[in-house]
Amino acid sequence: MNERCVEVQLRLAHESGAVLHTNEEVVAIDPDSSSVTVTTPARSYQADNVVLSTGPWIRDLAASEHAEQLTVTRQVVFWFDAADLASFTTDTIPYVMWIARRDEDYIGLFPMPPGGTPAVKIVSEQFLETTDPSSVDRTVSQTEIDTFYDLHVAPKFSGVRRDCVRAEVCLYVNTADDHFLIDSDPRSDRITLMSPCSGHGFKHSTAQAGMPSSSSSFMTLSRAEHLQPGPDGIVSSNLLIYSFLQGFRSRSMLRNLRKSWYVE
Ligand SMILES: Cc1cc2nc3c(=O)[nH]c(=O)nc-3n(C[C@H](O)[C@H](O)[C@H](O)COP(=O)(O)OP(=O)(O)OC[C@H]3O[C@@H](n4cnc5c(N)ncnc54)[C@H](O)[C@@H]3O)c2cc1C
Repeated sequence: MNERCVEVQLRLAHESGAVLHTNEEVVAIDPDSSSVTVTTPARSYQADNVVLSTGPWIRDLAASEHAEQLTVTRQVVFWFDAADLASFTTDTIPYVMWIARRDEDYIGLFPMPPGGTPAVKIVSEQFLETTDPSSVDRTVSQTEIDTFYDLHVAPKFSGVRRDCVRAEVCLYVNTADDHFLIDSDPRSDRITLMSPCSGHGFKHSTAQAGMPSSSSSFMTLSRAEHLQPGPDGIVSSNLLIYSFLQGFRSRSMLRNLRKSWYVE
């Protein structure tokens, strides 16, 4: 599904006049007062403005003071068989979130979209262990699958079988307050850093692309300095209210919901 969205966005960009250069690794981005030089092994490009959206690799090319504020975490996505797959389609079950006290006990169950993997997609999230995209372990062991099933799936969802038909590793980029990133690079306003940070942010990518960093200060890295927890430990800010209004769900919202609504 994501790949199809990317293909469509690339096609629309091309039809609007964009020139696409694929499979060309950017190895350096050097701004000066009048332009930015983008270097690849093939050649150098001069650009008036550069948008850097290289996902978990964004830290390699961003200025170090911004790179240091971002972490990358390994996540695992599982697809399990079910006794009755028809009861897990988009027509029969909504997206289910299981909000527990700890981040790592959070569970999301996705209904099967038409044409998707014929199995029930279930994820958790972890933010305790950080990783590096160049060395991350992208294999999912049987032990990892069994542990996940025993701990999270079997006690919570009936009808989901132990047979894991697919498991994939994916990476989240994490900011201090778990929201998306749209910020100028400290080296130059001509360089904009953008990261949806996760698949959730990816869904908003077309809207994000229309937001220049100058008009979205609530997405900059420095915004986290203004977030103050209240006496109950709940962060309350215009950012969260704005997020609700815009229909954004970010991980910080999830954490606050957990603090507000968790019932023993
Ligand atoms: C199977 C799967 C299931 C997932 N499920 C979920 C989910 O349920 N929930 C969720 O929140 N997230 C999920 N994710 C994660 C989500 O898809 C990603 O977090 C999101 O797509 C990241 O988008 P991005 O644009 O920031 O990065 P990417 O999609 O990683 O794009 C970055 C691009 O930059 C390119 N690039 C990097 N460095 C350079 C360079 N130096 N020069 C040129 N190009 C470069 C890369 O090749 C890549 O094409 C899943 C991921 C996978 C693979």
